[in-house]
Amino acid sequence: MTRFILPTVATDGTICTCAACGHALGPAPWKRGAIRRDLPLAVAGGAAYDTGHAGVFLCQFICPGCAVLLDTETAMAGDAALDDRLHLPAAAN
Ligand SMILES: [Zn+2]
Repeated sequence: MTRFILPTVATDGTICTCAACGHALGPAPWKRGAIRRDLPLAVAGGAAYDTGHAGVFLCQFICPGCAVLLDTETAMAGDAALDDRLHLPAAAN
């Protein structure tokens, strides 16, 4: 059964895929299979997003298969990507 971790990323429970093109991103954490582009906040959002801290970035995760933007997050320079996981409630008996 395919489930969506995000509107842009699906999983069959083992492998995560791009919802747009089906490109296999690999097992969780899926962001390791994406292209990561880090943009300084002032560049990504303009002056309104300039925090004055040069080490804060908007991290973009992009599908290597179709170049769609899969997800974004903010991080400090050198931070590892957040590990998105799908937590499902236990099945009722
Ligand atoms: Zn794709």
